[in-house]
Amino acid sequence: MSIDAKPHTARAPLKPLDLALAELLAHAAPLAGTEAVSTFDADGRVLAQDLVSSLDVPALDNSSMDGYALRCADWADAHTPLQVKQRIPAGSSGHALVPGSAARIFTGAPIPQGADTVVMQEDCVATEAADGGLPGVRVQTQPKPGQWIRRRGEDVASGDVVLRHGERLSPASLGLAASIGFDKLQVAPRVRVALFSTGDELVMPGEVAPADMKPGAIYNSNRFFLRALLQRLGCTVTDLGIVPDRLDATVAALKGASQQHDLILTSGGVSVGEEDHIKPAVQALGELNLWQIAIKPGKPFAYGTVGAAHFIGLPGNPVSSFVTFMLLVRPFLLKLQGATRLAPESIAHRAHFNWTKADKRREFLRVRQDATGGLELFDNQSSGVLTSAVWGDGLVDNPAGQTIAHGDVVRFIPFSSLMS
Ligand code: AMP
Ligand code: MG
Repeated sequence: MSIDAKPHTARAPLKPLDLALAELLAHAAPLAGTEAVSTFDADGRVLAQDLVSSLDVPALDNSSMDGYALRCADWADAHTPLQVKQRIPAGSSGHALVPGSAARIFTGAPIPQGADTVVMQEDCVATEAADGGLPGVRVQTQPKPGQWIRRRGEDVASGDVVLRHGERLSPASLGLAASIGFDKLQVAPRVRVALFSTGDELVMPGEVAPADMKPGAIYNSNRFFLRALLQRLGCTVTDLGIVPDRLDATVAALKGASQQHDLILTSGGVSVGEEDHIKPAVQALGELNLWQIAIKPGKPFAYGTVGAAHFIGLPGNPVSSFVTFMLLVRPFLLKLQGATRLAPESIAHRAHFNWTKADKRREFLRVRQDATGGLELFDNQSSGVLTSAVWGDGLVDNPAGQTIAHGDVVRFIPFSSLMS
């Protein structure tokens, strides 16, 4: 191979992140079809139906305490007992309250007709049944109408849309769906992703021991976090491993991956050096847009198509790859599933650090929340330093040209909202 075989081309203008994201999302038409899954298995999936309740939750007024149900008007004072004429555990329905009496009641049991209050048992003294009569209760505090009663329909009213098409299901939403009787849910299909890494310097941990690494070799770290990030987003991943830095090998890998996959995701090889074969390979098979995005870390990024599959090429530098996945690939994958909420949460937070080097690019700084309600900065923000992403619990989204002084309010994006 000759040294410096090809002339370099001039620097392309940088594309603002918002523009790149909008263009990328314009290509992400939601996948066709839906899938019925057990509500048990639907965590993290995107709902493909509106869930309309056909019942009130709770279905009846019921007690939120173990105690006694009575009518406020029947209470005389703390000493005069009321006869206890029925016992209503949760799951049974009791009968109308006999005027002047109380009902022993338990949490979740329906309020008997005629009762308008519940007194918790801690405020009552049960009295013994005498001469074969009924037990009684002395209510020590004056009851207030409506106390300790959960009202019919206070959680969900019949006809309410409790969850909407396009919502991502959380553990709490599974519970809510179950509370209105859904044991199965229609969800968007999983995105089928083919993943591969490029780079002749890459070796797999486990295949070569650290002591035997040749000079210039590095372990493939991107493969591990990219696969895990994809899995957290519910994708079905076909991991094609490492593809050598050769045009024919890259073309063959892309061609194979374009069958049966919705997205081909690669890392590395999207820079402009002649060892970067992704560009000519994708162009030979389909279409490619190579963008230089105005963010740091994470400049080179590619979107294209190979056959019917989408193609996304991430940069090789680990932190660039990690950050561009979270900022661009995550919303793309969510949109393919028809999700309506694509943006991660961004919170106003106080910087407990100084950032004196304003950059021309919008920066995503690795930070973590400290115990006093501010953000600390990892001291090495290089795009190769993966330690920063483990030490940190999120990113500061710092606009281009901006310095940060200790105490300034900044935008914080927690990793928790970028990784799921
Ligand atoms: P590239 O984008 O292929 O020019 O790679 C940029 C930098 O990222 C180089 O230092 C590569 O060695 C490194 N790199 C590329 N792919 C990986 C990977 N899968 N794991 C770790 N580092 C990588
Ligand atoms: Mg490379």
